Amino acid sequence: MNTFDYLVPEQLGAALAEYADGQATLKAGGIDLLDLMKERIATPHTVLSIDGLTDLRYIRQESDGVHIGSLTTLAELERSELVAKKYVGLHQSAAHSSTPQIRERATVGGNLCQRPRCWYFRNQEFYCSKKGGATCFAVDGENRYHAIFGEGPCHIVHPSNIAPALVALDAEIVVRAAEGKPQSIKAADFFVMPAQSLYAENVLKPGQIVCEVVLPNEPSASATIELREKQSFDWPISIASVARVDGSWRVCLGAVAPVPWLSKSVMAVLGNQEITPELAATAGDAAVKNANPMSENAYKVQLVKVATKRALLAAAGLETPLWN
Ligand SMILES: Cc1cc2nc3c(=O)[nH]c(=O)nc-3n(C[C@H](O)[C@H](O)[C@H](O)COP(=O)(O)OP(=O)(O)OC[C@H]3O[C@@H](n4cnc5c(N)ncnc54)[C@H](O)[C@@H]3O)c2cc1C
Ligand code: SF4
Repeated sequence: MNTFDYLVPEQLGAALAEYADGQATLKAGGIDLLDLMKERIATPHTVLSIDGLTDLRYIRQESDGVHIGSLTTLAELERSELVAKKYVGLHQSAAHSSTPQIRERATVGGNLCQRPRCWYFRNQEFYCSKKGGATCFAVDGENRYHAIFGEGPCHIVHPSNIAPALVALDAEIVVRAAEGKPQSIKAADFFVMPAQSLYAENVLKPGQIVCEVVLPNEPSASATIELREKQSFDWPISIASVARVDGSWRVCLGAVAPVPWLSKSVMAVLGNQEITPELAATAGDAAVKNANPMSENAYKVQLVKVATKRALLAAAGLETPLWN
């Protein structure tokens, strides 16, 4: 790890001012940043630690919805009765992320902005396209955990568990910079595909900090199903998050594309219909309509079908079969 300056602002205004030129590297809980620094993927000269900013740590009901400060931890989301009652899908995704110890440190903002887990990206020996090189090593290499949606040139899957739930719920992400008003961005527009931005996974500009997430009041039902290789701390290999917002179903898939994948093909099939086992199965088939698996990850196609079907059944309060 390189040596670096360590700044600990006590107020959000001071943090925004220190971060204004985008030169420092933000640290919230530090779970991902520490990994990146130990792996020498991040070599910051200045680390700006914001996890002590208590004014970004809250979950509160307001007239336009529930506001969650970006330094709220995943464990606090898990413990929130308000989130558990109104946003079941988000609660499930937070509660199933990583380990209890990590959830106590990991923040909402850091979870959304964590870097990809592609093993070539995480290994400093591989100078891949995402780091400025000429090759995506996953194309002809080990790609069993990579994307089955999207056209490249990079085939990461977005690593955040809570992002698909936020996109399904049609949440807004509020970002701030030292100058100007806070900017509200739909969660579905926050993440960017590699063809649009190869080196960053979201639309944040230098100097911008994620400050809060706003969940709409309307969802009448939601659920998240995550499928894993084993019941442990590891990232899921397929996620389906569904929510009924203003009467219509929204479906977002995770761990299968470089961004949380809002499945328009499923949403077109569902519209505002009541869920039946037959409709849920049809939706599962529609979810993989444009899938384009790589050499080692075609198994994810079936996982997406099953996760989508089960999430819809769960959100509708119907029996969720465990065998398919
Ligand atoms: C063993 C293990 C298992 C895991 N399993 C899962 C899992 O199942 N699901 C899952 O979702 N995650 C999982 N993770 C990842 C973990 O949840 C994330 O690393 C964590 O949520 C990051 O949050 P943080 O607050 O620690 O972010 P940090 O490490 O502090 O920051 C992460 C990145 O986000 C940037 N950042 C942080 N806060 C902000 C902000 N407010 N505005 C703008 N940029 C910001 C930082 O600059 C940095 O680049 C796992 C991690 C480990 C080590
Ligand atoms: S998937 Fe992306 S991060 Fe991984 S090797 Fe290819 S270009 Fe690099």
